[in-house]
Amino acid sequence: MKNEYLLLTPGPLSTSETVREAMLKDWCTWDDDYNKEIVEVIRTKLVKLATQQDGYTSVLMQGSGTASVESTIGSAISKDGKLLVIDNGAYGARITQIAEYLNIPCHVVSPGETSQPNLNEVETVLASDPTITHVAIVHCETTTGMLNPIEAFASLAKAHGKIMILDAMSSFGGIPIDIAELGIDFMISSANKCIQGVPGFGFVIAKQSELETCKGQARSLSLDLYDQWNCMEVNHGKWRFTSPTHTVRAFYQALAELEQEGGVEARHLRYQTNQKTLVAGMRSLGFEPLLNDELHSPIITSFYSPTDNDYQFKEFYMRLKKQGFVIYPGKVSNADCFRIGNIGDVYPADIQRLIGAIEKAMYWKVA
Ligand SMILES: *Cc1c(COP(=O)(O)O)cnc(C)c1O
Repeated sequence: MKNEYLLLTPGPLSTSETVREAMLKDWCTWDDDYNKEIVEVIRTKLVKLATQQDGYTSVLMQGSGTASVESTIGSAISKDGKLLVIDNGAYGARITQIAEYLNIPCHVVSPGETSQPNLNEVETVLASDPTITHVAIVHCETTTGMLNPIEAFASLAKAHGKIMILDAMSSFGGIPIDIAELGIDFMISSANKCIQGVPGFGFVIAKQSELETCKGQARSLSLDLYDQWNCMEVNHGKWRFTSPTHTVRAFYQALAELEQEGGVEARHLRYQTNQKTLVAGMRSLGFEPLLNDELHSPIITSFYSPTDNDYQFKEFYMRLKKQGFVIYPGKVSNADCFRIGNIGDVYPADIQRLIGAIEKAMYWKVA
């Protein structure tokens, strides 16, 4: 079955026909052909994608990506711990919200949604508050499309002896990183972003020695990261509770397709070409991106909405959808924007067709 339109949204996103076809079979969660040959293979491949070094492991967790973030925050921080959140967008703010729900003491450094966090400010907080045990940051802030300079913040956190948590939800698999080199202890992502699978579960890649300290710390039964990991380790890929089998099988296929494409480097290049093609085309039509080019990730781009009185997002959106493209509303609090994603089974030629479709959909320009 073909899709009627291309999702230019950062998850769920457009998947390949072969990824969708991989879901047409049922699996028994007690059998080796599911646990050992699919789940365990996925777990091993994920670790290899995240680092070349030893000592790391992975856990898959049911739910949307937020469930994996909540599982990590709720399991990694001990009763006496305190979290520093570096927040420059909705996903940084969500980490703080999770900490508040779970009654975890939290300090927030928030430079606003269109600025990068300030290293000196974070350094001052870390130097003045020794009760902070963990630091959390978002890699690509999907709110705006900003790519945060995680190297600098991770090495600062390490210099202060803190545990580092990275929300790499929208970047993992699409931007090369080595979490061991960076000093990341817990990295979170999900099935339906740059690996190009379908929604249903997230995953955490962790330094095993740190994950082992999480035993008995979780503030939620179903989101107990240690217990979930331990069950998968001991029972060779068995999930504690019902596993999203079809999604997992599709993800296995998506990982194979990432390899066929040439790995993360090749995918990164494609996304970058998509993003550059998009920005150049949009500029030629008179649109401007919210962020300066040097702050940008290749994942998603926010554009200022037209200021013409006749412009309405909904109408623009519907005109694009009729031509086969689905775009995303804005999420920035203090600027009127819309967003276009570059990730998924989307190629530069699709972006070029999109620019043509946008030109046709600019009904407010017609006299
Ligand atoms: C998509 C995303 C999440 C998780 O969102 P869900 O809707 O729960 O899947 C978290 N952080 C970032 C940066 C994201 O892009």
